[in-house]
Amino acid sequence: MDELKSGSHAEDYILVGNEKFIPLLSDEKIQARVKELGGQLTKEYKGKLPIFIGVLNGSFIFLSDLVKNINLKLEIDFFKLSSYGESKISSGKVKMLKELNADINDRHVIIVEDIVDTGLSIKYIEELMESFKPASLKVATLLFKKEALKYDVKIDYIGFEIPNKFVIGYGLDYAQRYRNLRSIYVLNEE
Ligand code: 5GP
Repeated sequence: MDELKSGSHAEDYILVGNEKFIPLLSDEKIQARVKELGGQLTKEYKGKLPIFIGVLNGSFIFLSDLVKNINLKLEIDFFKLSSYGESKISSGKVKMLKELNADINDRHVIIVEDIVDTGLSIKYIEELMESFKPASLKVATLLFKKEALKYDVKIDYIGFEIPNKFVIGYGLDYAQRYRNLRSIYVLNEE
């Protein structure tokens, strides 16, 4: 049985079977950082009409909170990738599941990711987006597992650097669940 202790308080924890997830980043801490990033993007894209492109599914909550903190006219689109392989560990192959609707040629594009782990997904995305010749291309990720990075990628905006451990909440899932948690929890490996 899954057990979900109430709310987003720092002392809470989540049991998934016999795996325990403990708090890593509180709702308040995430919101404060997202507000900062929104302020920074507002300044940097002043006078432009940027397009924010979320990578589904994980980025939907971060993207939603981020754009609410950006005081500019902007556009939003999404696309979806799938990593092949038996495990969650990157197989080295990526497939496009939902394509972009927008034409990004000559546009100021900001890719929005929930988390950069090995960097495989973002590397694929960067190469794909560059092929459409945007006016500029930047990458924003809420979380960055610096120690897990294996590919040479350019990340422009990072919410938080986190340890190389499995996390859930705030858009990030465990078998498609727990995306709706307001805080981020980390698997307790003790
Ligand atoms: P990468 O291509 O950088 O290795 O991995 C990126 C994707 O792997 C993310 O978009 C996310 O879907 C998944 N991922 C990587 N680390 C985690 C994690 O700690 N928790 C969850 N829920 N997903 C992760």
